[in-house]
Amino acid sequence: MNWIKRQLKTWLLWELVLGLALTGRYLFKKKITIQYPEERTPLSPRFRGLHALRRYESGEERCIACKLCEVTCPALAITIESEERDDGSRRTTRYDIDMTKCIFCGFCQEACPVDAIVETQEFEYASETRAALYYTKDMLLDVGDRYEPQIAHNLAADARYQ
Ligand code: SF4
Ligand code: SF4
Repeated sequence: MNWIKRQLKTWLLWELVLGLALTGRYLFKKKITIQYPEERTPLSPRFRGLHALRRYESGEERCIACKLCEVTCPALAITIESEERDDGSRRTTRYDIDMTKCIFCGFCQEACPVDAIVETQEFEYASETRAALYYTKDMLLDVGDRYEPQIAHNLAADARYQ
């Protein structure tokens, strides 16, 4: 009996009929796909994209080279070197993030006591070379300068839910 059923399904193209029926059910429903990149889906304020180093309004960099982000990074993606300035403050001389190692866990942002290292909503930074995904301090500060309004807005929005 089972053999006859299987043969009937095969010869009647039953799987194809089921597939077309499923397609037909969705044919006139509201579309859930979008025309990227012209159209975008909304992103959460907590979206974890490209990293940025932030500055204070005075232009002074926020990072105090405490290295908490470096030790907390599970992927060992952050490399920091630091030195003391003439005024006694400590600042980084090197702050690199290897994006090919980063798993975008957000731990560095969580660990930072001065909100210096953050993750932006930028996700369009694909590259054809690994070297281009090695972000130096200058590159990270540049990202921070470009996205500061967005970063500040999202941090404030995020604080409302805590
Ligand atoms: S997001 Fe996670 S993996 Fe990436 S640099 Fe920060 S701590 Fe490391
Ligand atoms: S980014 Fe934040 S956690 Fe990392 S070294 Fe600078 S101040 Fe410390």
